[in-house]
Amino acid sequence: MLFSEVAAVFDQLEDISGRLEMTDILAELFQQAEADDIGKLIYLIQGIVAPPYEGIDIGIGERFALEAIAAASGYSKARVESHYKKSGDLGDTAEELLQKRAQTALLTSEMDLEHVYSGMVKIAKASGPGSQEYKIKHLTELLNNASPLEARFLVRFVLGRLRLGVGDPTILDAVSVAHAGDKSFREKLERAYNICADMGHVAEEFYKDPELIEKFKVQPFRPLMPALAERLSTPSEIIDKTGKCGVEMKYDGFRLQCHKKGDRIRLYSRKLEDMTRMFPDVAGSIREMEAKEIIFEGEALAFNEEKKRFFSFQQTMHRRRKHGIDKASQEFPLKVFAFDVLYLDGKDLTQKSYRERRKLVEKTFRKKGLIQPSGFRLVSRPEELKQMFDKAASSGLEGIMAKDLDAPYTAGKRKFAWIKLKKSYGKSVDTIDGVIVGYYLGHGARAEFEFGGVLVSVYNSDSGTLETVAKVATGFTEEEMVDLRKMLEKTKTKNPADNLVFNIEVDYWVEPRYVIEVAFDEITKSSMHTCGTRHGKGYALRFPRIVKLREDKTAREVTTTSEVADMYRLQHSSGFR
Ligand code: AMP
Repeated sequence: MLFSEVAAVFDQLEDISGRLEMTDILAELFQQAEADDIGKLIYLIQGIVAPPYEGIDIGIGERFALEAIAAASGYSKARVESHYKKSGDLGDTAEELLQKRAQTALLTSEMDLEHVYSGMVKIAKASGPGSQEYKIKHLTELLNNASPLEARFLVRFVLGRLRLGVGDPTILDAVSVAHAGDKSFREKLERAYNICADMGHVAEEFYKDPELIEKFKVQPFRPLMPALAERLSTPSEIIDKTGKCGVEMKYDGFRLQCHKKGDRIRLYSRKLEDMTRMFPDVAGSIREMEAKEIIFEGEALAFNEEKKRFFSFQQTMHRRRKHGIDKASQEFPLKVFAFDVLYLDGKDLTQKSYRERRKLVEKTFRKKGLIQPSGFRLVSRPEELKQMFDKAASSGLEGIMAKDLDAPYTAGKRKFAWIKLKKSYGKSVDTIDGVIVGYYLGHGARAEFEFGGVLVSVYNSDSGTLETVAKVATGFTEEEMVDLRKMLEKTKTKNPADNLVFNIEVDYWVEPRYVIEVAFDEITKSSMHTCGTRHGKGYALRFPRIVKLREDKTAREVTTTSEVADMYRLQHSSGFR
């Protein structure tokens, strides 16, 4: 497949926003792809070169892309830079400047998809001394062979700013349509994707033989998309929904998905990044387990042995570091509370009921060392559930997780298989996780730090848009605010995110990348915000304050508009706090 065909489709996609139309355009492209190409093509559409857990980040900085554009177009770096200042998009700059060059240079040969993909992998994998020069050289070579349109997308891709607006559900639909003319394979493809988190791999298998998808099984070292929890606001609502259920303590640390096969151990974060190097203590403990092959999930928290209590969430987060690992493991030793087991000695357990999986959790971790089963009780009445909740609150935990005894493991999905009930933060009713879409400069006392807060959005999963719900300026110390501003500065953009719906302006827009947890007193309606807008007013958080940065969550996992609407409805219907 020629890369020019791919670039032409990317160009087409930029002008449309309807999912159906996008699906058709992609399906047509997918029909042209061979089994060897489809995986690579899908990675490119997703803006990656490999699934997230392989940790291959393309990571070219603007400065280097700029040099490559200068070299390939024959213009000076200063000229490229001034063009970029005007255009605000280095992809557009590359396209225009290469257009001008095109009159003089002759394209040697057309590039195929394989060539571009393997070039991207080389750029991404280069590391160590001299790697930046190597990356620039390689990108220059690709640009030398690229048409102006191809250059636009190559440059955006290496900068991590492809932003085609095509979500995973659309890609899955398109793969099914390409093969069967309809969405009949969609569900099976989605299940396979949810249990291996690698859409390129799923599509490749599907192209080899559609039946392979039906037999798709969980495998060590292919992490699953984590199951997600719904929320309800009282014990009786939970019992009404599930009847008798399992109630577990909800720990406030970081989620680990642990894989073992023989001596090989891998630990994945909630975003499915490989974190094995950071937690030698956890890996060591898994190595000693009886099970030869296992995949299980747990929440890791730092535990203060002397005082016999957990360190705070912030202190626990010191363990998520790349350097000084030994010292941090001594200062903040971890405990892992195992809450699910998904695979054991060759058996995929994801279709088994939670009742059965829980028994295995207890059996597997009965020795209670560094890893132990999460606190658990079977309950049938709201009063019993409330007792567990009070116990959690008095032990300084976040709340409880109620789990449907009959439910399978719902990889990648928010289902009522798991329902969370959280302790309120201070006076607030609840919290949301939102993604930062812009920020403000400070006034008065804060001016010196040049930071006046952030604009936060939730995600509307029906329309695929980000909708603002709060402007948040408090909750962090000044030092934390300075750190946050520095992080945000690096992701400044000229324009708001493509899928953002907003009514208020900010001083700077940013890429929707950082997720924060925001506490609030109440949800009100306001014309300032666009979350679930009806009759000109959207939902807005009253007295919002930052609780913490959720580095473990991606922008796709933030609270949804319909969850905010539910919370709005629930807030006056219950006296439970
Ligand atoms: P939230 O991030 O508020 O949506 O809550 C879901 C998170 O709670 C999961 O991703 C886990 O990291 C964490 N968690 C803590 N304890 C448990 C538990 N017993 N069962 C499942 N998840 C838990």
